[in-house]
Amino acid sequence: MSAPDFAEQFRQLVDAFDAIPGVGPQAARRMGRYVLSHSGSRALGESIVQARSSLNHCAQCRMFTTETLCADCSAAETSDALFPGVLLVVEQADEALHWREQGYTGPVFVLHGVLSPVAGVGPTQLGLAQLKQRIAALQSQTLWLALQSDTAKGAGAEPSVEARATELFIRQMLPDKDVSLMNDNAITQAINDAIGETGCR
Ligand SMILES: [Zn+2]
Repeated sequence: MSAPDFAEQFRQLVDAFDAIPGVGPQAARRMGRYVLSHSGSRALGESIVQARSSLNHCAQCRMFTTETLCADCSAAETSDALFPGVLLVVEQADEALHWREQGYTGPVFVLHGVLSPVAGVGPTQLGLAQLKQRIAALQSQTLWLALQSDTAKGAGAEPSVEARATELFIRQMLPDKDVSLMNDNAITQAINDAIGETGCR
């Protein structure tokens, strides 16, 4: 009885890790072994359960939050002196944190992915109707799209096919807005330009 139980559980663990983008079967097996043999994996498991059960998407910007609105949206401050009319649209929530650390103080919107028909990710999954509402509420004129998909290629990498398809979709959805697909270097430059122009840093 115990051998099939172990086999089945180990297979489920490996499959779960293998489903993570960038993790192949070999690494997934190593992670499965780690989970079974290290006491630290209990804390890992608890962190995963806690994050999944307590965090949801902010109703306005889709940033992860434990409340209905995140701290930024609760503050209700919509215009930003350094980045007037700019809305930074990021692929993943942690990227919003990254750009905040780099000095970006304007509003953000999190897509939680890019368009990918193969993976079943469409406009609904990315919250694009919500994005449109957000832009109307903020009266944003300029969208900085921080979409690369392929972070392994580094800060200067060209955007992925999915990122370009997402850009095209958003551009067509918002024909009167200035939409720019930017890599990390371009966003860093734009932030530094905005900060530099006002002499705040
Ligand atoms: Zn928010």
